[in-house]
Amino acid sequence: MSLLEVKNLVVEFPGRRGNLRALDDISFSIAPGEILGVVGESGAGKSLTGAAIIGLLEPPGRIVSGQILLQGQRIDQLRESQLRHIRGRRIGAIFQDPLTSLNPLYTVGRQLSETILAHLPVTPAEARQRAIGLLQDTGIPAAAQRIDHYPHQFSGGMRQRVVIALALAAEPQLIVADEPTTALDVSIQAQIITLLKSICHARGAAVMLITHDMGVIAETCDRVAVLYAGRVAEIGPVHEVINQPAHPYTAGLMAAIPDMTSDRERLNQIDGAMPRLNAIPPGCAYHPRCPKAMERCRSQRPDLMAAGATRAACWLHAGATPAGVAR
Ligand code: SF4
Ligand code: MG
Repeated sequence: MSLLEVKNLVVEFPGRRGNLRALDDISFSIAPGEILGVVGESGAGKSLTGAAIIGLLEPPGRIVSGQILLQGQRIDQLRESQLRHIRGRRIGAIFQDPLTSLNPLYTVGRQLSETILAHLPVTPAEARQRAIGLLQDTGIPAAAQRIDHYPHQFSGGMRQRVVIALALAAEPQLIVADEPTTALDVSIQAQIITLLKSICHARGAAVMLITHDMGVIAETCDRVAVLYAGRVAEIGPVHEVINQPAHPYTAGLMAAIPDMTSDRERLNQIDGAMPRLNAIPPGCAYHPRCPKAMERCRSQRPDLMAAGATRAACWLHAGATPAGVAR
């Protein structure tokens, strides 16, 4: 069984001329222990999808239809008190800026211990020992001393390690990590991603890794969902999506990965910009930017369809068997 299943998720914001659809029929699943990448330019709906899953959609945004299931149990209709239990205990969250996840007034040990005590049947002394163990596992030197330090006493990279420890403290089955390295020095980003991958793997936790960086996806994920204008443009095993992208948008993102062998960064940026929510083009939302757009793309909206080893919402693959719900 899937650990997480997102089915036909629709999220809207009220607008002056009716509701604006920010997520439009998003479906995917995550298997236990799997790392699913969610990639796309800013405004694609990546963070909103993560927020909907952890129950932290900012009002007035709301889920208007669809379902989110964790081990078969619906979690999209729970009350805040029930959600709080699921958050932390069963789903851990890591955000871009470590300072949003840490309380500056408490030592990291206190924050870790409180999370552990809130969710696991242990004594305060055991919680402290576990907290030290978590800091060690996330590569913080002298963890037994540093546990009594405050967040500001850690560097940015070390702070994000503390946040990872905090997200894992209650032994959740799923970690939702939203741009976990974007705020960090480039030199530290790879270390943190490697750590996240190895520590979640060791603990059997699945990860939903939200990023705008195809390079990170390539190095980290088992499968990837490419989002565009609030919809899944392509989804499939990472190797196939990267080596044989079926959707022109995925191909554009791949071409935009900075070429390490030259110093000309982002040479092949995709022309144009992600449309605003109030101006999503008819037909395929990507058609104004798509080098392969055809006549039907301007008026008919493609759903996900089988496209080689992946599924893509693109008319180039019409004629293959219709794909049903994305896996
Ligand atoms: Fe391009 Fe048409 Fe495919 Fe959209 S459906 S990505 S416009 S070819
Ligand atoms: Mg975001």
